[in-house]
Amino acid sequence: MDIRWEDIIGHKKNIENLQTLLKEQRLPHALLFCGPDGVGKSKVAVALAATLLCGSEQAPCGRCDSCRALLTDTHPDFYLVVPESVGKTAKSIRIERIREVQTEIARVPILSKRRVVLINDADRMNEAAQNCLLKTLEEPTGQVVFILVVNSRGALLETVQSRCMPMNFGTLLLDEIKDLLLQHGVMESQAAELAALSDGSVGRALLLQENGGMTLRDDVVSFLEKADSMEMEDVWIRGKDLGALSREKLTEWLMYLNMLLRDMLVLYSGGERTILYHQDVSARLTEILTEFPVERIFAVLELVRETQRRLGANVNIRLLMERFLLCMRNQK
Ligand SMILES: [Zn+2]
Repeated sequence: MDIRWEDIIGHKKNIENLQTLLKEQRLPHALLFCGPDGVGKSKVAVALAATLLCGSEQAPCGRCDSCRALLTDTHPDFYLVVPESVGKTAKSIRIERIREVQTEIARVPILSKRRVVLINDADRMNEAAQNCLLKTLEEPTGQVVFILVVNSRGALLETVQSRCMPMNFGTLLLDEIKDLLLQHGVMESQAAELAALSDGSVGRALLLQENGGMTLRDDVVSFLEKADSMEMEDVWIRGKDLGALSREKLTEWLMYLNMLLRDMLVLYSGGERTILYHQDVSARLTEILTEFPVERIFAVLELVRETQRRLGANVNIRLLMERFLLCMRNQK
């Protein structure tokens, strides 16, 4: 995802206003971004989150731990809430998800000085979920900023609206759309699709799951299952396979590994199964917990982070993955 203000097309006035509020430290703890689909509301929200989370004076710097974590979808203080479907029901933001976030934000931030909760399509919260959120908006605990993004505020309770600073987003000018299309190298007819792609991290992951990303995820699960029986020969074979993936695919592979390891930590802590990213494989993950003591999970998470960082540089992917696998093997 883009985290820099400069990468956003249009919305100059809104961006100026936000930057002024940031500079004067007058940013309210809850904001409501309202405007048509696909004009870049989420992008502005992500840039704002990056600025709030970045530790540098030139925020967002794109280089500090916080910015890098945000760029790799692994920021522990950034929560992206998106509508999800349960079974065949329409996508919605359930009260359980709001509660889950409320529990997490009650804790001290891990990487940054504050936490940011970005709720995309916030109007997909039912009344119960909105009332639940309202409690936190009325009595914010600790350093947390909420950004609610909607295309129409009609479905939001008056009480929720009144707790947020509203900011309206208009459609982009024709020239701006042209710039945006050129920037992404696609034709004008694909603009709607492009807008959908500008979504954030977990949303993107969910989309990937729906579109066949599950194969990649399952590959990571079986990788973890076989990690302990990995021979040197497997290191070279696996390294070759992973090395043949595109940088983008490998980023996703590492992202799944990260999510699964975090799920394993949740399983260790005896946390609710409902807060797992990948509930459907929880039995398989529980099975391998014996081979992954908590210290080892943290060591692998660190290794993943390091690999993600190096992947951003111009490295030989196969060598990078061989090194990764060797480190994994040595941990046994
Ligand atoms: Zn930074």
